[in-house]
Amino acid sequence: MSERVMIVTGGSRGIGAATARLAGAAGYTVLVNYAANAEAAESVAAEIRAAGAQAETVRGDVGSEADVLAIFAAADRLGRLAVLVNNAGVVDQPATVADMDLQRLERMFRINTIGSILCAREAVRRMATGRSGQGGVIVNLTSAAAKLGAAGQYVDYAAAKGAIDSFTIGLAKEVAAEGVRVCAVRPGIIETDIHASGGLPNRVAEMTPGLPMRRPGSAEEVARAILWLASDDATYSTGTILDVSGGRAILP
Ligand code: NAP
Repeated sequence: MSERVMIVTGGSRGIGAATARLAGAAGYTVLVNYAANAEAAESVAAEIRAAGAQAETVRGDVGSEADVLAIFAAADRLGRLAVLVNNAGVVDQPATVADMDLQRLERMFRINTIGSILCAREAVRRMATGRSGQGGVIVNLTSAAAKLGAAGQYVDYAAAKGAIDSFTIGLAKEVAAEGVRVCAVRPGIIETDIHASGGLPNRVAEMTPGLPMRRPGSAEEVARAILWLASDDATYSTGTILDVSGGRAILP
C-alpha cells in the first residue's frame, strides 16, 4: 500500500497526462482516470511504470456519481490518498448563449463543475483530520475563460469554470483547519486536444499572434504548477488560484 496516492482525473491526455507523468517522477502512486480512451490511459500508466513508479488506470465519468465512487474505491485499493487533481474537463462547439440548449448546459456543468465537486467531496471524506484522515491536497483546474467570459465561443464553459474559482475558495476555507489544502491552476491557451474537441482545431494557431508571449503553453508547463501546489513546497498555500497563462487574462 502506498502512502502517497495521487488521483488525476482525465489523466489519459493533455494536461492530465503531463501531470500524471510528473507525479510518477515525483514518487507518487498515480491513478490515471479516463472517460473513454483506455489506450491513451494505459500508455501513460505504462510510461510511469517504466520510469520506476506505480500507476493504475480507472475508467469513469466524473459527471456520474456512481463512477466517482468507483474511481475512489480504486484509489483506496492503492493506499492513502494524498492528492486529488480535478483535471477532467470538456468544452463544446462554439455557440452563443442564445443558441444553447439544456442538454449542452447540463453536460457542461455536470462534467466541469459537479464532477469536480463530487470528486472533492470524496477526497475530503478521506483526507480531513476531522474524519480520521491525515490531510491532503486538492488541485482544481479552472481556466482564463473564467475571467474573460469566452463570448461567442462557450460562455457556459467560462461560467462552469468560474464556479470552480468560487468552489476553490469556499472549500479551502471549509477544510483549512482539517489538514486539507485546496488550490487551483488557471491555464491560458495550452496546446492540447481540447480545442479540436470543441470543433476548433486551429484555435491555438489562430490565437498565438495575439497572446502576450506569442506562443501557447505546453501541458507540462501547467503540470509543473499543479505538482508544485500539491507539494510540500506549498504548505502555506490554500485557496490559491495560480495563473499559468503566459500573461493572458492578467496583462492589460
Ligand atoms: P484534453 O486534452 O481534451 O483532455 C481531456 C481529458 O479529460 C482526457 O483525459 C479525457 O479522457 C478526460 N475526460 C473528458 N471528459 C471526462 C469525464 N466526463 N470524466 C473523466 N474524464 C474525462 O483537455 P486539456 O486541454 O488537457 O484540459 C485539462 C483541463 O484543463 C480541463 O479541465 C480544461 O478545462 C482545463 N483547461 C485547458 C486549457 C487548454 O487550453 N488546453 C485552458 C484552460 C483550462 P479520454 O482520453 O478518455 O477522453
